[in-house]
Amino acid sequence: MSAQPTLSSGNRTTKTQIRFHNTMSGQTEPFVPLVAGEVRSYTCGPTVYDFAHIGNFRTFVFQDILRRYLKSKGFRVIQVMNLTDVDDRIIQKSAAAGVSIREYTEKYIQAYMDDRRALNLEPPEYIARATEHIDDMVALIQRLTAKGFTYTSEGSTYYRIAKFPGYGKLSKIDVAGMQTGARVDMDRYDKDNARDFALWKAPKPGEHFWETPIGPGRPGWHIECAAMALKYLGDTLDIHSGGVDLTFPHHENEIAESEAATGKTFVRYWLHAEHLLVDHEKMSKSVGNFATLRELFSHGHKPSSIRFLLASVPYRRQLNFTPESLQGAASSVERMRNFVSRLRAEKFPEGSSPAIADRAAKAKEEFDRGLADDLNTAQALAAVFDLVRDANTAMDRGEFRRGDAAPVLEVMETFDAIFAVLHDDDAEKLKALGISASGPTLSDAEVDALVAERQAARKRRDFAASDRIRDQLAERGVILEDSRDGGVRWKRK
Ligand SMILES: [Zn+2]
Repeated sequence: MSAQPTLSSGNRTTKTQIRFHNTMSGQTEPFVPLVAGEVRSYTCGPTVYDFAHIGNFRTFVFQDILRRYLKSKGFRVIQVMNLTDVDDRIIQKSAAAGVSIREYTEKYIQAYMDDRRALNLEPPEYIARATEHIDDMVALIQRLTAKGFTYTSEGSTYYRIAKFPGYGKLSKIDVAGMQTGARVDMDRYDKDNARDFALWKAPKPGEHFWETPIGPGRPGWHIECAAMALKYLGDTLDIHSGGVDLTFPHHENEIAESEAATGKTFVRYWLHAEHLLVDHEKMSKSVGNFATLRELFSHGHKPSSIRFLLASVPYRRQLNFTPESLQGAASSVERMRNFVSRLRAEKFPEGSSPAIADRAAKAKEEFDRGLADDLNTAQALAAVFDLVRDANTAMDRGEFRRGDAAPVLEVMETFDAIFAVLHDDDAEKLKALGISASGPTLSDAEVDALVAERQAARKRRDFAASDRIRDQLAERGVILEDSRDGGVRWKRK
C-alpha cells in the first residue's frame, strides 16, 4: 500500500501526488516508497580532503530540502550519509603533510559539520565514516568473490564488470566491445576509462593500510557507499541522491557491487542535482572560481542568503552563482523576515476577511504543488512571494484584519519548515564560526531605501521591524540619528 499524503487547507482538500525525476528511467515518476510511511534514503557525503565548496553544498542543500519535504508530508525518513575519510587524495595529502589519515581528515570533518549547521542542514539519522566500516566492506567483497564477480592482481581485488549484465544502466554507458580484464586503479575516472575497478587496493610503500582476511590494503571509494548503504538501509533503498557528476562511475559501480551481491534492486529512485556554475563557468579549482562557505561568510554574505540561493533554483537546473544573485537572495530573505515581523507586530483592526483566508489557502496549495512536482522550489517560492505581496497590499490599504494573521503566518511556517531561513540568527552563526559579520558596503541608494522602509515601519508602529532594520544598518556600518520632528539622518561609521 502506498502512502497518500493529503493536503487540507480550509474547506478544500486536494491530494498531491509526489513525483521525482528518476535518473534510472529518465522519467519523472510518482514517488511511492517500498514501505508505506517510511523513506530510506542514502546521501553521498563529502570526501573530507579539503573544505567543501559551494558546489558541493548545492547538493547538500537539495538533500536537506528533500528530507524536510518528505518529513513535512508525514514520512519517517531514515537518511544515511557517509563521510569518505579514505581515498586516493586523502592518502596523498595526509602523507604529504606527514600526519595520519585520521588526523588529516578530522579538521575537515569538523569544518563540514560546522558548515552544515550554518546552513541549517538537518543531521541525517546516520553519519557513517568509511574508516569505521572496513569490516563491512571486506565482507561485501567476500560475498562478491564467492559469486565470482572479482579477481585479484598484485594484491588488489577488482570487480569484473563483464560479469554484471546491468553494468551501465544508470549512466547509459555502452560497455559493448570493452576490453575484458582492462583495469583502473583510480577512485575517480571518466566514461572513457570504464574498466574493471578496484574494490580493494594493495598498499603502496609507506601508505596506510588495514590488515584483513582479503589481505592488507584499503578500500576503493565505491565499495564504501555500497557497504554502508546495505548495512543501514537493507538491500533495497527508496532514494539515493548525489551530484550529477557521481552518476558515473561512482553510482554505476555501487549498483554493480550491491546488486551482484544481493540479487535485488539496489535503489528505486536515483536523484541527481545539477552543477553549480560560478559566473557561467563550471565550478572547479582549475578555473579558480572555487569558493568555500567560509570565504563567502568572511566577505559578508549571510548563511541564510546562501541557503536561500542554493534552495531557490530547482535541483535539476544549473544554478549560476554570482554576487548579484546572492544579493538578490539576501533581499528576498529580508523581505520575508520583515513581512513575518509585520504580521506579528502590527495592530490590525478587529475581524477577519474570508478573501485573505482564501488567498492563504491558495498559496499553501500552490506551494505544496510546486514541491510535489520534483521539488520545484522556484514554483513553491513564487506562491509564497505572491502571498507576501498581496498581504502587504491589503495591510497598506487597511483591509487586513487581526484574524487574518493566523492563516497567513501558517503559510509562512509551512514555507520555513522546508526553506529554513526566517529565523534571524545569521550573526550568531557567524560568531560561532569565528567570523565577524560585517556585510559588504551598502550604496547610498541602498541605505536610503532601508531608511525609508524603516520610516514606514515606524509610521505603522511596527517597532520590531524598525529595530531590525536599524540593526541591519548598524551591522553594515551605518548609524541612524532620529530627530525630534520624526525625521532621520544617517552617517557611516
Ligand atoms: Zn557515495
